[in-house]
Amino acid sequence: MNSPRREFARRAAEATCRSCRNPGLRPVLDLGETPRSDGLLPADAEPGTEALRPLELSWCPDCTLVQILESRPREELFGADYPYFSSFSRDLMSHARDNAHRLIAERRLDDSSFVVELASNDGSLLANFAERNIRVLGIDPAPRQVQASIERGVPALEEFFDLALARKLRDRHGAADVIVANNVLAHVSDLDGFVDGIACLLSDDGIASIEFPYLAELLDHVEFDTIYHEHLCYYSLESVSNLLEGRGLRVIDVHRLAIHGGSLRITVGREGRPSPAVAKLRKDESIRGLGTLASVSDFAAQVRSLRQELIELLHARKAAGRRIAAYGAAAKGTMLLNAIGAGPDLVEAAYDRNPHKHGRLLPGVRIPVLPAERLRQDPPDDLLILPWNFKEEIMRQESDFHDAGGRFIIPIPSPRVV
Ligand SMILES: [Zn+2]
Repeated sequence: MNSPRREFARRAAEATCRSCRNPGLRPVLDLGETPRSDGLLPADAEPGTEALRPLELSWCPDCTLVQILESRPREELFGADYPYFSSFSRDLMSHARDNAHRLIAERRLDDSSFVVELASNDGSLLANFAERNIRVLGIDPAPRQVQASIERGVPALEEFFDLALARKLRDRHGAADVIVANNVLAHVSDLDGFVDGIACLLSDDGIASIEFPYLAELLDHVEFDTIYHEHLCYYSLESVSNLLEGRGLRVIDVHRLAIHGGSLRITVGREGRPSPAVAKLRKDESIRGLGTLASVSDFAAQVRSLRQELIELLHARKAAGRRIAAYGAAAKGTMLLNAIGAGPDLVEAAYDRNPHKHGRLLPGVRIPVLPAERLRQDPPDDLLILPWNFKEEIMRQESDFHDAGGRFIIPIPSPRVV
């Protein structure tokens, strides 16, 4: 009989890298059978409704890309029940506005320019260009988000972006001066089609501005709850450069951002001298050994101990008579609660501001999602902040809860009570 560990090693060895296409990945971290992170369930869902799938993190010895093994049909992940709307977070909205205004100034965009956003969601970023009379087009596979975008006056197509679509767009609308692709690169299963599509649609001197969660942050802050089936790849500057350079594009500038627990924003073009920041970050990565097998293996060991520490903390507080609830019914929270096996007997509800989620259940652990306003009517004693990347915003919004004696539990990078 084969052990799960040996089976994982075998599956990794048989897998092909999503970026460089070389076979033979190495196993890093087995997160077990987990549900789809964004797939909220109706309140009356029968037991076993949610499919549980293996979630296994692996590493490519050729291009250093960290990636999960399992792929699910992309249509399954971004369909009509995809619940995430950008405009529900004020911090995200102001980040989008700053990003747009920076691009308008740096690229001297005007009414003759054309800006395309991949994974444009509800159009909240593109709206900042549109209000300056810049021609925009959003591409997103999620129908409700595309509808919301069109309703706010930002044209959008309900499509997955690939080379075939890029050719059609270029024929119909001309080349893009700027392509924005934020928080989508990690989700792309057809990396060839996506990157070739960007190369095809971009004008000769155009740039793509791409943001993605940074591998260094995932490892340094033990952000294991950002690993889920929708996030196929976890990039360093080195591994993303390897991806682009094979396809006629290069990284010409890089910035570190605080958003989403720590991201990189890269500026990508066909040519142009890379800024000193690119060489510096590549050097920093090399010095610290980011993306080596040793660095990802250390991370895996830290995840195992964090999970243990958090579940012990919650049980201890519950045993002391405290009622515990969670804040934020987002993907991360689903992964975190499933990873520690905390059901409604331990965490009684998950409060959220998004009305699309109310009355539903987090998959796997089956914790009910309630409107954030209900928190004031019947407050628990402890509030576990699941979207810890927005913890400042949440603690500000819910300061009454804290003033009345409630406590926040921040789970990551190591569990603490404030
Ligand atoms: Zn590779």
